[in-house]
Amino acid sequence: MNIVLIGIQGSGKGTLVENLKQKLKFSLISVGELLRGEVKKNTKLGKHIKQVQAAGNLVEIETVMAVIQKKLAQNENSNIVFDGFPRNSLQAEEFDKLLKLDLVIYLNLDKQTAITRLLNRLTCTNCGSVFNKTKVKNDLCPNCGGKLETRFDDTLEGINKRIEQFYIETYPLVKRYKKQKILAEVDASKTPNQILKDVMRAINEHNN
Ligand SMILES: [Zn+2]
Repeated sequence: MNIVLIGIQGSGKGTLVENLKQKLKFSLISVGELLRGEVKKNTKLGKHIKQVQAAGNLVEIETVMAVIQKKLAQNENSNIVFDGFPRNSLQAEEFDKLLKLDLVIYLNLDKQTAITRLLNRLTCTNCGSVFNKTKVKNDLCPNCGGKLETRFDDTLEGINKRIEQFYIETYPLVKRYKKQKILAEVDASKTPNQILKDVMRAINEHNN
């Protein structure tokens, strides 16, 4: 099953992916991570990506697709979850040529709740765990003792900009996949456990 996760920042995609691991065996494909991985391994693609990004440009669609194809060729799981891809209509079109999507999960969250969540978010500079400001006692990570910090772009201005960008670029995909009858909309204002239940129900319904 090929599954895509869509949602504004703060809608809980990262938490969902973590919780989903206990219920479903899948390969996670995060395009951002794949690109960083290629750069880190200094592959031919990686060298190119580094050049493009150093010049302040966005990595071209051909390169992004090549990186995804490379990853798909190594994939051993029958389930794949794509996080943060496709992000716009052009990517969705290219994606359709590459594989058949079975289910698109849209984590629907209102802008104000997302902003409140993001402004309260602390990230561990050591292990990357994310916490809610109101739930930690000090600025040390409960998991590893690392220092907790607000992400540099988690300012009201930065958050607003990214959410606006989502509605312009990514939100049209919700309609696209609804038309294709593969969209499952999940209320992302619920607790992580409830969201997991709703997502598992959507996956099982689609499997039948
Ligand atoms: Zn930590």
